[in-house]
Amino acid sequence: MKRLSYFEYRVPKTVEEAIELFESGGADARLMAGGTDLLMKMKHGAMTPKILISLKKIDGLDTIAFSEKTGLTIGATALLADVASHPDIVEHYPAVAEAARGTANVQVRNMGTVVGNLCNASPAADNAPTLLAMGATVHIQGAGGKRDLPLEEFFKGPGLTALRGAEMVTSLSVPLPPAGAGAAYLSLSARGKLDCTAVGAAAMVTMKGDVCDDVRLFIASCGPTPLRAPGAEQIMRGKPISDDILEKAGEIATGEASPITDLRASADYRTRIIAVLAGRAIKAASKRALAR
Ligand SMILES: Cc1cc2nc3c(=O)[nH]c(=O)nc-3n(C[C@H](O)[C@H](O)[C@H](O)COP(=O)(O)OP(=O)(O)OC[C@H]3O[C@@H](n4cnc5c(N)ncnc54)[C@H](O)[C@@H]3O)c2cc1C
Repeated sequence: MKRLSYFEYRVPKTVEEAIELFESGGADARLMAGGTDLLMKMKHGAMTPKILISLKKIDGLDTIAFSEKTGLTIGATALLADVASHPDIVEHYPAVAEAARGTANVQVRNMGTVVGNLCNASPAADNAPTLLAMGATVHIQGAGGKRDLPLEEFFKGPGLTALRGAEMVTSLSVPLPPAGAGAAYLSLSARGKLDCTAVGAAAMVTMKGDVCDDVRLFIASCGPTPLRAPGAEQIMRGKPISDDILEKAGEIATGEASPITDLRASADYRTRIIAVLAGRAIKAASKRALAR
């Protein structure tokens, strides 16, 4: 592993100051939250920014807030560990807490952030599928002002997001799940939390009696971005949750993904696992929905 190359380390106190530094640094500058992704890439020589702009000392950026009216807000520097254990998230968004708790190991969760996990734009990011299934929005600020973007429009490819120029994500918000809805995230990796996710599946299911009224299903690590599985969703709507329909939905989800072979798993393994995890995530989400 290479030594880190020389870089300037800047610690702005406000979002505006961070954006100013980011804009003036141009292609040489990089934002850093926990640094658990970024510093690894720098150590491997995959990224060589000359200016690192830490977001950690910006007041209020680590806020986690919940209200029955507006739902959940997670600030850009809120730690994975804090999201995993926050009482409101555990109570109202258990799948979001579980995804954060299932990310990496305790050391990484104590440094890394949920927003950093999204901005890194890895197709294997553990927090993306659940937040996508639950209809999250990212709040963006740049030199040109503020804008909001559905998370579904945020991922553009491996390592690529919809952020433009000197824009940063200041927070993300997740609406309160509709009545009768539940969500779940399941993932598999070769060596537990020592490895990133080989296949992940998140579902949010809204039940009407014992019938699936609506479902949103996302698959991780089986395409260039986390992928939605609209055909699998469609087959579930208006049907009771049964093993047969879950198997069918899993088969369709498999056809909607585009897994490759990499160091985490073979395309063949992924192809077999998508159906299993998709079916199980829908079933777990529907159980949660029925228990609410
Ligand atoms: C040992 C180890 C195990 C890991 N295991 C997992 C795992 O199981 N699952 C998983 O999903 N990930 C895993 N990761 C990856 C990583 O820890 C997570 O992606 C983490 O959430 C990143 O957060 P961070 O705050 O450290 O991001 P950083 O490293 O600070 O940033 C990541 C990227 O996002 C950009 N960025 C950060 N914040 C913002 C912002 N607010 N606005 C715009 N851009 C921003 C940075 O410029 C950088 O490009 C692992 C990493 C390590 C080292």
